[in-house]
Amino acid sequence: MRYNARMDVKQQIPLSQFSTMRLGGTAAYVLEIHDRFAIAAALAWAKERGLPVIMIGVGSNIVWRDEGFPGLLLVNKIKRFEEQQEDDENYYVTIGAGENWDEAVARTVAKGMTGIEALSLIPGTAGATPVQNVGAYGQEIAQTLVSVEAYDTQTGTLVNIPAIDCAFSYRTSRFKTADRGRFMITAVTLHLLRRNPQPPFYGAVQAYFDEHDIHDYTPQALREAVVAIRRSKLPDPATVANNGSFFANPIVDEGTLSQLTADYGTVPHWPAGEGQVKIPAAWLLEQAGFKNFHDPETGMGTWPAQPLVLVNEHAAHTAQLLAFKQQIIDTVHQKFSITLEQEPELLP
Ligand SMILES: Cc1cc2nc3c(=O)[nH]c(=O)nc-3n(C[C@H](O)[C@H](O)[C@H](O)COP(=O)(O)OP(=O)(O)OC[C@H]3O[C@@H](n4cnc5c(N)ncnc54)[C@H](O)[C@@H]3O)c2cc1C
Repeated sequence: MRYNARMDVKQQIPLSQFSTMRLGGTAAYVLEIHDRFAIAAALAWAKERGLPVIMIGVGSNIVWRDEGFPGLLLVNKIKRFEEQQEDDENYYVTIGAGENWDEAVARTVAKGMTGIEALSLIPGTAGATPVQNVGAYGQEIAQTLVSVEAYDTQTGTLVNIPAIDCAFSYRTSRFKTADRGRFMITAVTLHLLRRNPQPPFYGAVQAYFDEHDIHDYTPQALREAVVAIRRSKLPDPATVANNGSFFANPIVDEGTLSQLTADYGTVPHWPAGEGQVKIPAAWLLEQAGFKNFHDPETGMGTWPAQPLVLVNEHAAHTAQLLAFKQQIIDTVHQKFSITLEQEPELLP
């Protein structure tokens, strides 16, 4: 228990406080990490006790199982905001993994930089952004990320992983797939540009600019547009328990799209690589009858302004969320023969 006292490991903590869906069992041990050099000692502590380890940010993309986590949960609180290099065009910044993402975006926007302003208001930490290659309104972190600094649990060293080695694609990376759990991310380095964002903008953003007669497309203007659009469509996880979009937008081949168009008329979609299109999962949910849907049995519902956001209205157990989720997946599959994939991670 020597390390325990020194490292302030807490015991038997409800996992609901580490998920914006506010569900889940109990974590056996929880430790906040404020310094990248504290990770090795924390892992040694867990190893001595034969415990599994998971590192998280604030749980805005996590659903915890009711069974809980019998290991050591590391909550990343590493703070850092280091401007590496800047000139008339370029700006490089290293951001600690535990920094609040939106605050970091605000700081770069205030300096007039473009690159991440469309990712404004995405809940969570900077360190989690590469994990699912966060994206919104036409930007994704893969476009500006230079490298990820992480503690490699396989080699026991701090490493710098260049973006090209992160295996980024739509809402995923090596941190979520082949190397899940291997790297404890301590910082991200981004390359932003000192200029205005360039049109064409995402449809909803352009509509906002037009409606508000905005023609000076500064990073700040784009940030404000995105913040306003998100506030009008998405619930604030501080007051409404949710994990944002619960399903990824499915990618289907053009043959499937033709069939859907024949059956349902106009089907919203956008290109997703050779012969493939992405269909908004929100449209599928609406067509399947889940718009503004409230299920008294599970205590779950869909957010009125955006059915893709499942909200915990009064569910007490993850099993209820999973039952609701399955009901949606089955109904959508029956109607469209498309299988929706869950976006937030079910842990452990
Ligand atoms: C209302 C709402 C809106 C959202 N909108 C969007 C959106 O527009 N676009 C989008 O892409 N996402 C969106 N999300 C999802 C979520 O905000 C992002 O995935 C975010 O990056 C999660 O950050 P977090 O700190 O909460 O990570 P967590 O939920 O704590 O963790 C997510 C995953 O990353 C891992 N992880 C976290 N930090 C580290 C670290 N330092 N080292 C190693 N692994 C780590 C965890 O183990 C877990 O696997 C939304 C969520 C909500 C609630």
